[in-house]
Amino acid sequence: MSISTNLQHAYIFRVIGLIGIDIYLVSEIILITSCLNFSNVAEYLIVSIAVVAAAFDVIIYGNPDTDTFIRYEYFTSYVRSDPYRHIFHYTYLIILALCLVLISMAWARNSKYRRDRKLIAYAYLSNTILVLSTIPDVIKIVVDVPFAHIFYCIGICIAFAIFFGAANSYMAFYITVNSISRDIFSTLATGLLVFDTNFHLNLANEYAKKLLGLDKEPHRIRLKEIFKLKSGEPLKMFQTATEGVAIDYRLTSEVTDKVILVNFSCKMDKNNEPMCYILVATDLTEENRLIEEAQAANEAKSQFISNISHEIRTPINIITGMDELICRECTDDKIIKYAENISIASKNLASLINDVLDFSKIESGKLEIISNEYSIKTIINDCYNMFLNMATEKKQKLTVDCNPNIPKRLEGDEVRLKQIISNLLSNAVKYTPEGGSITVKIDFEVITLGSINLLISVIDNGIGIQKKDLPHLFENFQRFELSRNRSIQGTGLGLSITHNLVSLLHGQITVNSVYGEGSTFIAEIPQRVIDPSPIGSITEDYSSIKAKHQSIFTAPNAKILSVDDVQMNLDVLSGLLKKTQVQMDSALSGAEALVKLNKEKYDLIFLDHMMPEMDGIEVLTRLRANKDCINNKTPVIMLTANAIIGADRNYLDSGFDDYLLKPVKPIDLENMIIKHLPPSLVNIQASPTNTSDDESSNDVTQVSSFLASLYFLDTKAGLEFAADDEDFYKQIILTYINEDKRPSMGAAYDKKDWPNYQILAHSLKGTSSTIGAKELSAAAKELEFAVKENRTDYIIEHHDEVMIQYGKLLDKLKTAIQKA
Ligand code: ADP
Repeated sequence: MSISTNLQHAYIFRVIGLIGIDIYLVSEIILITSCLNFSNVAEYLIVSIAVVAAAFDVIIYGNPDTDTFIRYEYFTSYVRSDPYRHIFHYTYLIILALCLVLISMAWARNSKYRRDRKLIAYAYLSNTILVLSTIPDVIKIVVDVPFAHIFYCIGICIAFAIFFGAANSYMAFYITVNSISRDIFSTLATGLLVFDTNFHLNLANEYAKKLLGLDKEPHRIRLKEIFKLKSGEPLKMFQTATEGVAIDYRLTSEVTDKVILVNFSCKMDKNNEPMCYILVATDLTEENRLIEEAQAANEAKSQFISNISHEIRTPINIITGMDELICRECTDDKIIKYAENISIASKNLASLINDVLDFSKIESGKLEIISNEYSIKTIINDCYNMFLNMATEKKQKLTVDCNPNIPKRLEGDEVRLKQIISNLLSNAVKYTPEGGSITVKIDFEVITLGSINLLISVIDNGIGIQKKDLPHLFENFQRFELSRNRSIQGTGLGLSITHNLVSLLHGQITVNSVYGEGSTFIAEIPQRVIDPSPIGSITEDYSSIKAKHQSIFTAPNAKILSVDDVQMNLDVLSGLLKKTQVQMDSALSGAEALVKLNKEKYDLIFLDHMMPEMDGIEVLTRLRANKDCINNKTPVIMLTANAIIGADRNYLDSGFDDYLLKPVKPIDLENMIIKHLPPSLVNIQASPTNTSDDESSNDVTQVSSFLASLYFLDTKAGLEFAADDEDFYKQIILTYINEDKRPSMGAAYDKKDWPNYQILAHSLKGTSSTIGAKELSAAAKELEFAVKENRTDYIIEHHDEVMIQYGKLLDKLKTAIQKA
């Protein structure tokens, strides 16, 4: 104002100065009131009054009528023209100063911190200077003070400088969003990294630098230098972030080797173009260590459970095995009862261990799903027979309702499916009172051409489940109504395992239950279709119950020689006669038989017809020709697989005393022996046990999983030839597997040695028929007859095909035996 030559301009400068002073004063009021803990209303009121007063001051004191401006030679000054406006101005200043003094006194009294008191002291000082600097201007009303406004200006500048300095040291200006963000950025205990759009590191906070070992200046560091990344990965990460997806990565620091969780996002500008990339890095090293420790502990636990279960299983197997022997061999009812109790307890223990083992496998993610081709028939058979005893004991009706259109062969994990059904069935039997009924319903729905949803429902009319318990049904170790179910064995693991198994098979399980009325568990499991032809009715199969064959005589002093080139046939014969206690001897060829016949006296001889080198007829001729032989008169029975009408006549004409068709039926064999052995050697059993029809239908002999796994065989026939003794049947099959005739048949075929080829085909026909492999037996028969009828072209055409069929059968048998 003073240096302005233009009076008009000087006036404008003066108004600007006045506004500045008023703003300064109002700011001071705002600052100090905000530092005091006034209520919001009080704070607004004080500030509003100050603002209104300041506005009036500008309007009234800033009016051109207040002073008259005069231009001297080198400066501009003024003389007062309206004293009232001055009085208003000074009154305003004094009130404001008083208010400030009062407010600051209150503040000084309440302030806890030294910096607050310092600020107040500086505020006093600055205001005092401001007030003092106005003195020349005030007295100018009375005395003319040259350059009075200059004092005022200088005073205000000093006051402003002092107050600004104080406020700065008080950090009043520091409290801004930016400064706080900066502070947070550098002190945050989370790593923050900012990359520019050229993918160069631009900013990194202290924590990030320490965490990632960044000792260089952040600029120009690339992502690949910070984290262990494969080439191409950084670019992909930036691109994904640019697409607007914030992704969490688990990375390892290149320098510090720490495991870090990195949240990678892109900050967009207003045009939706990338501005920068923000990486939030959290140190996971500790978490990682804890996870690894927990995993190791879990692993150790699973290993321990697995080892201990295995260790427990072995003695249990011995206990059950021994117990079984007691049950079989003991005649004392009391001891048999004890043994049965041991059997029940050990079965419970074994199932408990299996549950625990499965549970631990599921928990550690080690339960493997192994898909194979199977027939649902096998599974139903197994499950049905597994629980038939239990259900019968509780007088429950156990039925199977299977949709006959279910595809014949499916692919899936047969073992786990069986486990699911048996867990549900076991619960149904356990939680259904005596006389109740249980139904296993098997249905399906087509998903696509090659896959179906297998719908397995286990329905019971048992105790049912309360509504409140339903949501917890599939949780681990959950058992309900313990007081009511006290007598029922259980761990609360069955349904949890079932639920997990169904999930592992990509299916789902649901339950409908009405308390007191019963429950329905439905498992829906997708399966691949291998053979879509319908399975047909399966009811007769699973309910076919048979009693073991019991021998009708014993002959412990009788000696019988059986002669056959096939070991399996010899085994079958001696196995079938085991219970008769006859002394069995055997020979694998005609020559060996003749040697034995010259040395030992036998009461009966079974002689196979078709043998290589020396066939049965030749052996018999030589025996009968050797008048000195001790067995010259011993009855000889021909064993043949030649079921040709009229063959009997031929055999009898050749000098055989009788003949038996192979595969030999146990009852025919025994009748034949009784017929030809001297009666003094034979003790006929008065009433063999378990042979009457009535009894056999009550006897709930189980169709075992082994028999069910032989779905490709006519097990009915096979078992019959094995005297309905499953163990014996198994043994015969084992011998059948071991006597793989493919190499010898192949060799005979290559050499075009048709006579031997015929003998081998003949024996394959017989042995296959014995185990119930009807198709292969028929195919072998065709080959045998082709040789007989000189149809070599048929053999050439079909040899390979039959060998493949034979190979497949052997593979399936091996699998069944391994599973048994
Ligand atoms: P548990 O070994 O106790 O049988 P599960 O996991 O198989 O364990 O079953 C958990 C609980 O669910 C059982 O204790 C029983 O209370 C209830 N439950 C399961 N199945 C049935 C059912 N079919 N009827 C009634 N209650 C059932």
